Amino acid sequence: MKKENKEKKEKKKKLPLRRTIANNMFALRAIWAASPIYLAVYLGSSFVYGIIEFLSEGYLLRMIVNGIDEGKSVESIVLFVLILASISLVTYTALSWFWNVISPVKQRRVSAYIEKMLFKKAAEVELACYENPVFYDKYVRAMDEAYDRIMKVMRTLDSLISRLIALSANSILLFIIDPVLILFGLFPLVLGIFRRLENIASHDLESERKKVNRRAAYVKRTFYLGEYAKEMRSGGMYGNMLRDLRDTFGEYKRITKKYGAKRAIYGYVQRFGLEVVTILGATLYSVWSAMCIGSANGGMSIGDCIVVIGSIGTISYCLNNLVQNFAEFGEHALFLEDVRYFLDYETKLVGGNKKAPDESVVLEARGVSFRYDGSDKDTLHDVSFTLRKGERVALVGSNGSGKTTLVKLLLRLYDVSEGEILLDGENIKEYDLSSYRDCFGTVFQDFKMFSMSVKDNVLLRPSEKDEDEKVLSALRESGAYARVERMDKGIDTILTREFDDKGENLSGGEQQKLSLARIFADRTPFVLLDEPSSALDPIAEYTMFENMMRATEGRSVIFISHRLSSAVLADRVFLMDGGTIAEIGTHAELMALGGKYAEMFHRQAENYLGESYEESEVSANG
Ligand code: ADP
Repeated sequence: MKKENKEKKEKKKKLPLRRTIANNMFALRAIWAASPIYLAVYLGSSFVYGIIEFLSEGYLLRMIVNGIDEGKSVESIVLFVLILASISLVTYTALSWFWNVISPVKQRRVSAYIEKMLFKKAAEVELACYENPVFYDKYVRAMDEAYDRIMKVMRTLDSLISRLIALSANSILLFIIDPVLILFGLFPLVLGIFRRLENIASHDLESERKKVNRRAAYVKRTFYLGEYAKEMRSGGMYGNMLRDLRDTFGEYKRITKKYGAKRAIYGYVQRFGLEVVTILGATLYSVWSAMCIGSANGGMSIGDCIVVIGSIGTISYCLNNLVQNFAEFGEHALFLEDVRYFLDYETKLVGGNKKAPDESVVLEARGVSFRYDGSDKDTLHDVSFTLRKGERVALVGSNGSGKTTLVKLLLRLYDVSEGEILLDGENIKEYDLSSYRDCFGTVFQDFKMFSMSVKDNVLLRPSEKDEDEKVLSALRESGAYARVERMDKGIDTILTREFDDKGENLSGGEQQKLSLARIFADRTPFVLLDEPSSALDPIAEYTMFENMMRATEGRSVIFISHRLSSAVLADRVFLMDGGTIAEIGTHAELMALGGKYAEMFHRQAENYLGESYEESEVSANG
């Protein structure tokens, strides 16, 4: 809660001017890097539009009225109009081609450039970042808004340019006519304060609405995402969700009323100031100057009076909106702060220069302790073991004893808090990170299937030529082949129906078998399996473990399994308890030890075999 408030304060805080400029420049530089032509034409067109508009409105009007007044020939005016019309025609045709044919492609290029920048960073940041709520929030916002915000900076600059052109051209014209008029023109600057208040109210409204919309979107997700479907159909969850939806609607109404009223009042004050003081004031002043004083006595000509009435509105509108443009730059800078924070984040998990070995070697943990960020106690404490070359180890222990955490440390998804992990006698930090991780074939309990082909899901990397046989044999080893064989397009079948009507949805057990094929496809020196059999029935599980033992010959394996029957197949068993390795030995040794492992094994066997197991134990021991 405290964190949330701090975040909110951070969000409202104004950035220093230098940072505001730097963040907006960052956006423009990103567009420039992706497509210089796009940025140049986008902004350049504002110059051209601004000048053409001024020439064809205020300037032309004055030329015509004063020309008539002074009895000038009609030819010079017609010539001016013809030249202006030709320039407009050519410009508008060229720009229309650009907006409709070239711009959409360039826009896509800009968005791809920004996405690439973000995705590259996202793949780099350590797992711990996902567990840090402040970082994660910034990360999600960066992913969500980077492109829109960056484009908005360009649009704001575009509108600033066209307003500055209209403003300066019309101001010069009015100054030439009568310098006093500039005072009327400047009044909208005073109104800028109300514009700022209106912006703050809009910003608050938007951020409060976002919270409500997030909740509403969550409710919506629970209705259409398959992963919620079972719970949504049981008990009263459906009713709970509808209740939440109603609540979000009520909240939406409340905040719209609260901020809507503020926005209406600030908007009204601005319009009143603009229309009554500036436009009406300048109009009355010009009419008085032209009619009461008259051009013969130093007052305005009728032509100038008409021009003033036409231009003052443009000036005051532009000035009022310039304030808006600057406020927008401030807002963009705040949002881009998150994007830059994310992109500038330097990952703490840095690899070394050494290339990791490509065959099984000794992996050793020495006095390893580990504490998750924000946690007040160690999850692992003083863990030491050696995984010998080609050894298969079962890692067992009750829930929460630290097994998965140990696997994550071995994969260097986190760095140890104390102690060290050595590969072939070398601290794993010395190895190039990706070559180190490439040593491991891993299947996690919460593995994910991607909406891609079976082949892609098995290889988890772009496939090379002639790898089909490799994928097929991996599927055979993992027991997933029978299911894939029934698919129309075999290993080229797309999984899930999200993007392909002919896609296949797999059951939990089938998915698990398929994910296991990943470790058979590429012969990595190490294999780490975190409960790879939790969704399999006992027979499929037994077959899977047998296959795994065969297929991982010569590779070092650590597998976590809840069912201790599989630990029997391992060369050694590590029993974890409360963040430490409490017992190490072969199944037979640990059974003979009569410690925690033996106790767990007996308990599980009883559950499976019931009384017959107890009886056979009694008779065996007796
Ligand atoms: P196991 O795999 O043996 O069930 P874990 O390694 O998943 O155990 O978890 C060990 C302990 O660490 C648990 O108490 C769990 O709550 C805690 N833990 C796991 N992941 C995190 C995390 N990302 N942040 C903080 N605590 C965690």
